Amino acid sequence: MSRIANYCPICGQPLIEKHHAGRERPYCTSCERPVYFDPKVAVVVFIEQDDKVLLVRRGMDPGMGKWALPAGFIDYDESPEDGAIRETLEETNLNVKIDKLLAVYPKKDNGLADVIICYSASIIDGQAQAGDDADDIGWYTRDNLPELVFYPSITLTTLWRDGELESY
Ligand SMILES: [Zn+2]
Repeated sequence: MSRIANYCPICGQPLIEKHHAGRERPYCTSCERPVYFDPKVAVVVFIEQDDKVLLVRRGMDPGMGKWALPAGFIDYDESPEDGAIRETLEETNLNVKIDKLLAVYPKKDNGLADVIICYSASIIDGQAQAGDDADDIGWYTRDNLPELVFYPSITLTTLWRDGELESY
């Protein structure tokens, strides 16, 4: 996602471009401070049960109609683990516990996040049901995977299919 800032969020003055802290940044000459563009952080949750992985079908673009692991943005004041648990509940109606940090990926495709933190998780309770950004949900075996979207979901699911996720 490109970032644009035309006006100072504090005083409302037009911003200039200025070299500050290592790169060109929008800068307010009145407040004498830059505007920092913080990365958007998302969490992805890998849930395996009975040799199947839980996937959700995206109900909106990017990637509408394709499948991905449950995922979403974390709030600024939320821990990544709590965000992963919340997003999983919103998209799958399942209460999960986080088991392990699997990977941290940078943005590599048209996904909406800049930093993606990926966890494995186990179901505590609930009946799987699609919600929020997801319009369908399903359990998939290694030899029956649907068309996936987004680098983290494609990478982790492929590793799992090939038996390489355990040692990842
Ligand atoms: Zn200002």
